Amino acid sequence: MIKPTYSWVDQQINDLKKRGLYRHLRTIESGPASTVEIEGKEMLIASSNNYLGLAADQRLIMEASKVVQQFGVGSTGSRLTTGNSTWHEKLEKRIAAFKKEEAAIVFSSGYLANVGVISALAQDGDVILSDELNHASLIDGCRLSKANTMVYRHVDMNDLKKKLQLARNAQNKFIVTDSVFSMDGNLAPLPEIKELADQYNAFIIVDDAHATGVLGENGRGSTEHFHVEVDITIGTFSKAIGTEGGFAAGSFPIIELLRNKARSFIFQTALPPGSVAAAIKSIDIIEQEKSLIHSLRANIEKLQKQLAEIGFVTMPTPTPIIPVLIGEAQKTVAFSKQLEREGIFAPAIRPPTVPEGKSRIRLTVMASHTDKHIQQVSQAFYTTGKNMGVI
Ligand SMILES: *Cc1c(COP(=O)(O)O)cnc(C)c1O
Repeated sequence: MIKPTYSWVDQQINDLKKRGLYRHLRTIESGPASTVEIEGKEMLIASSNNYLGLAADQRLIMEASKVVQQFGVGSTGSRLTTGNSTWHEKLEKRIAAFKKEEAAIVFSSGYLANVGVISALAQDGDVILSDELNHASLIDGCRLSKANTMVYRHVDMNDLKKKLQLARNAQNKFIVTDSVFSMDGNLAPLPEIKELADQYNAFIIVDDAHATGVLGENGRGSTEHFHVEVDITIGTFSKAIGTEGGFAAGSFPIIELLRNKARSFIFQTALPPGSVAAAIKSIDIIEQEKSLIHSLRANIEKLQKQLAEIGFVTMPTPTPIIPVLIGEAQKTVAFSKQLEREGIFAPAIRPPTVPEGKSRIRLTVMASHTDKHIQQVSQAFYTTGKNMGVI
């Protein structure tokens, strides 16, 4: 069938291309190791969220295969209909224990957890206070909620305090923040946020996507790192845990309410049991094998140090996210292409993921990177940086 032309679509696509914001998919032709085959070329991955390398761990693969044999490849329904298996319930208990919370609820992704939790809890008459650099899924949760959203300046506690003051008469107040900001790698100041929340009688919802399995002595996340308590922690299994799915953890009644009200929980097919079983195994490994987190931390320090030595300005953070700011979108794309020629895969991050003029290469470190890998990354950054006049 011949389709008509849609000139408004062509126009928008051309506009994206002109602004250096056009996106296209890249094809990975091998499993999630530190080096992968991309479109026929072997490349070192320096941008994966598979921080602990668990996505390709044989123990997880064996566990998932075993459960797939018994439970099939699809869950066949939402959690409240035919999709709830023993594995889903085990994972909820496991993640609650890992996070040291009373209860947890598993969603099919972190995105769906954020959208579901915020829109279910924050009601008409409530106020959400949201950090301006929060992840898109938190922003979408705020948009779906009937509450009024006030955006405060990035990690700016004076601005948060001002806005809490303005919102003081609201029914409920929710402070919503990434714990580790996904494109900058910096941390939200949770102890200060907690103090303000207590002072203004607000609840805290933290997105621990990049902190779970990474921060804290046992990898439990931001609350372990800062030794503070929050009301609800949201997270994902798709980053350090290496599988897929999302969760929220908190008190029994809050989780009970979410099971009854979160639309992205109710109207979504449950995760396949094999993947759920792999997530449980992964959490077991993270708790038992401290060496994984230790290798990750050592690699973070090495790469930060090497990049600083060759003249790149990076923020010293305890997270595996190391953004290298380039600025203009087109220039960042060119930088990324040159890195590819050097055998390093780290795509350009551009608006609307980051603000205009703040395009960057978002480097991430993995526990499974060897010293040679880390050196390869900094060598490629040196060559590219010199070529493009960035350093
Ligand atoms: C990746 C990410 C999510 C979404 O998690 P998925 O499981 O990939 O849907 C949510 N919040 C933050 C901060 C993230 O980085």
